[in-house]
Amino acid sequence: MFEKVLIANRGEIALRIHRACREMGISTVVVHSTADEDAMAVRLADEAVCIGPPKSRDSYLNIPAILSAATITGADAIHPGIGFLAENAQFAEMVEEHGFAFIGPTAEHIRIMGDKIAAKEAVSGVGLPVVPGSDGAVTSVEAAQTTADEIGYPVLIKATAGGGGRGMKIANNAGEVASAFSMARSEAKAAFGDDSVYMERYLGRPRHIEIQILADGHGNVVHFGERDCSVQRRHQKVIEEALPPALNAEQRDLIGSLAARTAQKLGYRGVGTMEFLYEDGEFFFIEMNTRLQVEHPITEMITGIDLVREQIRVAAGAPLGYEQSDIEFNGHSIECRVNAEDPETFAPSPGRIRSFHAPGGLGIRVDSALYDGYSVPPYYDSLIAKLIVHGATRNECLMRLRRALEEFVIEGISTTLPLHARLIAEQDFVNGDYDIHWLEKLMQGD
Ligand code: ADP
Repeated sequence: MFEKVLIANRGEIALRIHRACREMGISTVVVHSTADEDAMAVRLADEAVCIGPPKSRDSYLNIPAILSAATITGADAIHPGIGFLAENAQFAEMVEEHGFAFIGPTAEHIRIMGDKIAAKEAVSGVGLPVVPGSDGAVTSVEAAQTTADEIGYPVLIKATAGGGGRGMKIANNAGEVASAFSMARSEAKAAFGDDSVYMERYLGRPRHIEIQILADGHGNVVHFGERDCSVQRRHQKVIEEALPPALNAEQRDLIGSLAARTAQKLGYRGVGTMEFLYEDGEFFFIEMNTRLQVEHPITEMITGIDLVREQIRVAAGAPLGYEQSDIEFNGHSIECRVNAEDPETFAPSPGRIRSFHAPGGLGIRVDSALYDGYSVPPYYDSLIAKLIVHGATRNECLMRLRRALEEFVIEGISTTLPLHARLIAEQDFVNGDYDIHWLEKLMQGD
């Protein structure tokens, strides 16, 4: 097992990884920018190394600085966390070339899944259903027009290198194709430095269902069930729940084992998430994330398995040591992503936390790096806390969540806590009756 792990990330996820390492008896090194000198992970880690100024590209994306920090501190392995370099194949390669273990999949798998066209080809080649769409990249307006006519309207134009819902545009009819195509391309170029796009049928009322898998690289693969992440704003997840209210045990078994078998056939190693859209009883693969997910705690709550610990174990070469039949699902879990944003306009709201009180009690977990007096810096993602609730049934979980939201105090900045209180009170949410467009439709009705 590793003796020292370098955490190349920040915020709640750096703290989450630090916690898993401590429990495993592994020392931690946290790298940070000058804006994060007072971060909780920096305070708690065994060692901390400043790797640059606030801007991500000069610090959290600065590969030479991170590798130097790993060298001078004598780390054995690097955990990339979520975002930043977590899905950068070149980083994974360089980490290994410099003699450190990369806590994640192989560079080859990151590369395939990071290219959404290659990803769809890879998984459909081994039998997973994908959203009907273009045969690879679409490179001209004329080709986009012909392909859209073939697929039927509305169509979605998506960035091949996409992530975070960027570079995605809908064309509702033939007249909208040209402008949607050029907008998707320029947004993709600006966000990812790659203007390659492809096209898919735009599904009208799907749910976003994803499967958590874990593979040890020795041929053993399991899945930890599904998550419903349909409550989204601008293609970004807001609330997630496990197990999904819309699926029965048979449908779950089917898609879970299909996903696990796909990972096995691809020779995958590490944790990963296969994302699907689910409509009228059918699953369509959209992408695979080759890393930990923000919403991984809800899976931990219903399985009792520490996914970061498992991630570290398999990166160190350990075999899984259990099988699919050993994994049990208990109760229900919901996560609310709390952002430092205005709950109505979603304008970013960084600044000093005057008062912080996390809810507690049975079945409540708060993953956050906030504390009284901490200043949320304006340079990074706005996620500041995850409220994760577990209950024996979905009803109990909802009751606890309502109570926990009432108890949660974050003063000094605006947060999306009031939005969550409002959403979970909606009858549709209580009924588990929502799709990926539900939240935006609700907000439009305001
Ligand atoms: P990203 O990598 O940017 O997150 P995804 O391919 O995972 O992109 O899609 C993000 C979200 O966009 C999905 O959860 C879903 O809400 C929406 N979406 C993606 N593809 C389609 C589609 N073909 N039809 C309808 N909605 C889609």
